[in-house]
Amino acid sequence: MLKKNDEQARWAHPATASLHAGFRSDPTTKAVCVPIYQNTAYELEGDLSKIADVYNVKEDGYTYTRIINPTTRALEARFAAVDNAADCLAVASGQAATFTALANLCSGQPGDNVVASPFLYGNTWNLLHNTFRRLGIEARTAGNSDPAEFERHIDDRTICLFGECVSNPILDPLPLRNLVEIGRKRGIPVVVDNTTTPLVCRPARLGANMATYSATKYVCGHGTTLGGLISDYGNFPFHQFPNRFPLFSGPDEAHGGILWPQAVQEVNDLGKSAALLKARMTWLRDVGACASPFNSFQLLQGLETLHLRMRQHCESAAAVAEMLEDHPKVVRVTYPSLFTGRKKELADDLFDKSYGYGAMLMFEVSDAANGRALIENIEMLYHVSNVGDARTLITHPVSTTHTTVPRETRMAAGINDGTIRLCIGLEHTEDIIRDLERALSAVN
Ligand SMILES: *Cc1c(COP(=O)(O)O)cnc(C)c1O
Repeated sequence: MLKKNDEQARWAHPATASLHAGFRSDPTTKAVCVPIYQNTAYELEGDLSKIADVYNVKEDGYTYTRIINPTTRALEARFAAVDNAADCLAVASGQAATFTALANLCSGQPGDNVVASPFLYGNTWNLLHNTFRRLGIEARTAGNSDPAEFERHIDDRTICLFGECVSNPILDPLPLRNLVEIGRKRGIPVVVDNTTTPLVCRPARLGANMATYSATKYVCGHGTTLGGLISDYGNFPFHQFPNRFPLFSGPDEAHGGILWPQAVQEVNDLGKSAALLKARMTWLRDVGACASPFNSFQLLQGLETLHLRMRQHCESAAAVAEMLEDHPKVVRVTYPSLFTGRKKELADDLFDKSYGYGAMLMFEVSDAANGRALIENIEMLYHVSNVGDARTLITHPVSTTHTTVPRETRMAAGINDGTIRLCIGLEHTEDIIRDLERALSAVN
């Protein structure tokens, strides 16, 4: 069974957890900020049988930074408290987070498959549809508009339902509650990528079982550091489904025939999530996509102000969306607060309105030439195809990220010739609006 994270009970508000959870001060110097433990190995001190216990996952302890590091562990504990997770595992990047989270659920038997939304970050789409396929893991696509389609694709080797809370870049909301219902009924975990809406969407409250984050984006917040985080909300009993998840109950040869449900009881700090203990001690150990201590330190700095920044990102994005809605040269604006019908219901259910509706939005000018003209006339905003920078980023997908995608395919996904993508930063809202208005005046 999973132990409740004490931190979660202690810090009710993310604002407080992001400053206090997981670390008080350095035990020897009393330094208040989490020190950067820039080291690879740890001295093996004392009783040799105790040291063996650490290696055999019978006791907590530090062995090697590829597997565990104090700076990174402080980030994990702190983020777990912020995200209402039982525990969290930090890795090298968002891609490493998705890879590790999903690979960890595989049985290794033929037929392992993931049922996923079609609207995925491009590299995640590639990971699922090309790289995983080469490893014998199949990705099946089910549309967000018809949750029953997810259920139709499920079989006895389905390891999870997967999607982005609101997809990057086309902002399609995931029918998360429906997926959670299907998952509960069929005994399948729901894993979401919540990269673009940390705190704005709270997967734990909506019943998701795990989440992956590219911490590179809003957790870092300043465009300086790559990182990934996996949250386990501790609400999926993997060991109760030995046929679907044999490695979560039977002996796991990847760690000397260990029984994870037992091991997780024996350790304390690492005993809050069997899934993440297994991921750390096998996948992270073997693949080596660990977070660097310096990057963990940078992500801890970002995490401290995440709640303030997300509020401002959302508030400015809503103001920009409103301005664009009323602009005569703008054909269409896509922003979750402006959705209607079912999509609006989904967005309202996904987002905590005390924050808003996220920082990403799309709008459309009449054609590709005008899309290019707009970008060429931007002065302050950065022409960058990233997400979650403190600066506002703008792109014309047809001239950049989607140049090689066939026209029909991208149009079906909502990327038209004149589509412009914005990721609103932390500049004063009036300055963002002024720059966009100036660029729009150059458009026909
Ligand atoms: C950026 C991004 C990723 C990949 O993260 P990296 O840290 O760049 O590896 C995954 N999912 C989403 C939604 C992203 O925006």
